[in-house]
Amino acid sequence: MHKRLSLDEYRDGILAGNRVILSRAITLIESHLPQDKTLAQNLVEQLLPNTGNSIRIGITGVPGVGKSTFIEAFGKSITAENRKIAVLAIDPTSQITKGSIMGDKTRMEELAHNPLAYIRPTPAGDSLGGVANKTRETILLCEAAGFEIIIVETVGVGQSETLVKSMVDFFLLLMLAGAGDELQGIKRGIIEMADAIAITKADGNNLQASKNARLEYLHALHLYPSGINNWQTPVMTCSAINNKGINEIWETIQSYIKKMKLSGFLEQNRQQQNIEWLYTFIRQTLENDFFNNSVVIEKFAGIKEKISSGKMLPIHGAKELLKYAKSAD
Ligand code: GDP
Repeated sequence: MHKRLSLDEYRDGILAGNRVILSRAITLIESHLPQDKTLAQNLVEQLLPNTGNSIRIGITGVPGVGKSTFIEAFGKSITAENRKIAVLAIDPTSQITKGSIMGDKTRMEELAHNPLAYIRPTPAGDSLGGVANKTRETILLCEAAGFEIIIVETVGVGQSETLVKSMVDFFLLLMLAGAGDELQGIKRGIIEMADAIAITKADGNNLQASKNARLEYLHALHLYPSGINNWQTPVMTCSAINNKGINEIWETIQSYIKKMKLSGFLEQNRQQQNIEWLYTFIRQTLENDFFNNSVVIEKFAGIKEKISSGKMLPIHGAKELLKYAKSAD
């Protein structure tokens, strides 16, 4: 176990783009020790003036859609421009398996060895909300360390997309041709969240099917009105293994960012995301304080018993417990 550095040492190291110190600071963010968390939060706050300068991109899709292969190819395009890219993951499975299907080391191997790229897997064993908070703070640290493009990747299972959407500027949905929407677990809401849809693996025998799928999604999207940002979601095809369509997607993202900066939407969206983050923290803190309250813990079993045996209404049980929590403050 490393010795903890001082706040100044972390700050200076990150501002100098020192990756070892960046990694150690992220470990601090991921720590469950209260003193680590406090130090990490103070560090992130100190670095706030040096944040906000990246393009934050969310990428989602079902397992096997080709996310890591895509990010590898995409990352190569970015690093070829001599720009720095960080890849973070929100893995909704990690809390169940205590491991991580996304965090295994063989993913994005080439990119992982590129000095302009930084890849950080999800901490295992955390709640989805907990991981999301840590990812938000990690985004800020990576920005302070000079990363210009930050990718937040998640497996498409529902809730995790909403969380990723709430912390990025651009949300890219990867889809497979030929697999029905149901099969891909894609709900209407997810399609509506996308700023672009890319049909992956548009190569070989799959090329025609990908083109057809593109037209189908384009058609489906026309049924939705464009949002307040006045952006028509493009549907594109790509092949990560043939490096086709990857640059076009990157150009689309850059053109989106340019437009949204000009219209003021980008800034407005980030401000709103920060306010949402505030509310999330308040809710989480209240909930944690409540469930960790010693009187609540002591009385909980008895109240649960009354409710499950039908002697008490849940609303009355909740009120009673909330009263205990308050009086024990
Ligand atoms: P993830 O689970 O979404 O990260 O998907 P992976 O990137 O691991 O890809 C799943 C499988 O699809 C792997 O066997 C890849 O080799 C394959 N794959 C990924 N991208 C492409 C592509 O552009 N074309 C083809 N033909 N296969 C691909």
